[in-house]
Amino acid sequence: MENIKGAVHSIETFGSVDGPGIRYVIFMQGCKMRCQFCHNADTWKIEEPKETAEEVLKKALRYRPYWKDKGGITVSGGEPLLQIDFLLSLFQQAKKQGIHTVIDTCGNPFTKQEPFFSKFQELLKLTDLFLLDIKHIDDDKHKELTGWGNENILEMAQYLSAVKKPVWIRHVLVPQRNDEDEQLKRLDEFIKTLDNVDRVEVLPYHTLGVYKWKELGMEYPLEGIEPPTKEQVEYARKLLHCDDYNEYKK
Ligand code: SF4
Repeated sequence: MENIKGAVHSIETFGSVDGPGIRYVIFMQGCKMRCQFCHNADTWKIEEPKETAEEVLKKALRYRPYWKDKGGITVSGGEPLLQIDFLLSLFQQAKKQGIHTVIDTCGNPFTKQEPFFSKFQELLKLTDLFLLDIKHIDDDKHKELTGWGNENILEMAQYLSAVKKPVWIRHVLVPQRNDEDEQLKRLDEFIKTLDNVDRVEVLPYHTLGVYKWKELGMEYPLEGIEPPTKEQVEYARKLLHCDDYNEYKK
């Protein structure tokens, strides 16, 4: 694969939550989902790719001494799978150097149709771990919360399980939107059918990105909804049996 250009939104040089160890996190520009709780609304717009994979990797490599044996590179977003050619180019070069690679995705671009699917299969060979967000287990409620259904996202989870690619499943817990017992239990049942889950995480919804909606001139859809309490998070963690999955304990 040639040295493809990507549209990068921003970088976090010492990420500690998006994959194991210390990670260089590349946030890609562009996302088609419209999650009501999105704290990165400034990453939505699809923009022209400007930096080559080689340039991006070169900047990342300055931080390699901090990665030790567990850390590496995570590509997040926005939605990284929208720029799958760039990911292939970046990870091909990263793998030549023995770097641990992670993709943090909402799964929305996933399809078994071509040309995406062959590229995705190629990408699997170059990716050590997926962080897959499941924002709602119910298709209709997923549509209300994100603007899109979840069928292909669950299909992606099942495909990753079938090929035994390790994943962390993540669920952003939003009070009054996706924290009902019944749906968390359904999500738990779904996760139990998968064979490749190293970790299940509950990420508490927060309001740190609300100002971005205002800056972009958009009305914030969750106005008045407070982040979950510690007890609510703990309760959701219990329903999802998070403590049963701990392959990558830090
Ligand atoms: S998938 Fe992520 S970046 Fe896209 S709208 Fe949802 S939270 Fe925001």
